[in-house]
Amino acid sequence: MSEAAGEDRSKLLQPDDISKIERVFNLRQVNTSEGHLIFGPQERNGIRQSEAAIPLDVASEIVEAIDRGAERLEEYEGWIDPQRGYVEFEVRQQGLSALRSSTIEKFTFDIHPCTHEHASDPPFIYDEERNHFSTVIRVSANDGSTCIEISPNSPLCLPLLPLDVEGRGRPRTQTTLKIYLSGSTEKTDLVRRSRELANSFLFELNVRHRCSYSLRPRVENRSQRRHGTAIEYTVRFPKTPIADNIAALFSIPSDFAMRGNHTLFYLSYYQILEHYMPAVHKRETVRKVRRLLRSLDFDEEKDSSVLKILNSVERSHGASEGEQLRNLVQECVPENRLEEFLSLDHGGHFGKNGPISGVPAINSKSGESLASQVAKRVYMLRNRIVHAKDDARYAESKVLLPLSREALRLQPDIELVRLLAIEVIVDNR
Ligand SMILES: [Zn+2]
Repeated sequence: MSEAAGEDRSKLLQPDDISKIERVFNLRQVNTSEGHLIFGPQERNGIRQSEAAIPLDVASEIVEAIDRGAERLEEYEGWIDPQRGYVEFEVRQQGLSALRSSTIEKFTFDIHPCTHEHASDPPFIYDEERNHFSTVIRVSANDGSTCIEISPNSPLCLPLLPLDVEGRGRPRTQTTLKIYLSGSTEKTDLVRRSRELANSFLFELNVRHRCSYSLRPRVENRSQRRHGTAIEYTVRFPKTPIADNIAALFSIPSDFAMRGNHTLFYLSYYQILEHYMPAVHKRETVRKVRRLLRSLDFDEEKDSSVLKILNSVERSHGASEGEQLRNLVQECVPENRLEEFLSLDHGGHFGKNGPISGVPAINSKSGESLASQVAKRVYMLRNRIVHAKDDARYAESKVLLPLSREALRLQPDIELVRLLAIEVIVDNR
């Protein structure tokens, strides 16, 4: 795009148009430079996010789309355009696919005449600026009413990057999955049908062609990264003995290769708790029995005295995993550590309207001990992740899938279970 064209476009963009873009991307415009709108870096919870530059011609196309009712998808990164019956999903690709530019000519595509305007045709499109071939995969229904395409993004899904050091827009494309229906489609119907088509297509690409793509879940507040524990600035010679299995479990959430796998992080810390449950439970049972034996009114000749011990042991024997967890938290985690953690600003995460459904909120004024509330939440969340079908009490709660929108918002819960794991390890060393 020449600069002159850029300036022409800038005259077309009214302040009202710019605020539409600010709203849809949750950005704030700072200036216009070299044919781009520049949106300022945002400071969220102390984390500086990069600025974004949007070419003016792309900005105009986005405004036009917004004006005809297009909006960003709620669950995934991408756009929905009901008036055109069009949905575009950003996708991630794992590994080398058989459908790459060097081998794509071996493939044929099930294409029929259609009424859509496709920007490119299979098997690939050449990008002059980057001297790069991008593959284009497209199939269409027999009657031409519906097309599914994987190809470089349209303006709506342009990656938002800062300008380079010379103030130029970076060459930017990403792969998107596009669904074209036969025309204007009601929004919820369009979301449903495009999801169904995307699911089927990605499944078959994986199974039939070993070509693995996944839809990118939408991440809203990636800044919800609060540390549950303060950082210590003195590095010392280590004093904490750690068993191999605990060391391995504890390192998983910090492993770069695992990044983004929030449900796995949660379960790794949870498994550490699980490891200590039987020992702590036994310890607690022994303590209770010993207390009974030492009580002044204990009389080994009296059945009622012996029964007290029997009851205590039986209760302990029948304790569920949830009860054992509560016991563990009560025994090993100081109440003030929980108070301290929960007094941090977690953006309402642990409150009644928090982003994770099917788990109890934590309320320091409820009268129930924090240890008990925390244990209930941690256990219910664990059940949602592993989907404990055998436990009738949780049959209704829906499974929490890796990479779902909820999973991506787990960070404060991961920090909480990490805090519990650390305290339990320290208490049992
Ligand atoms: Zn088509």
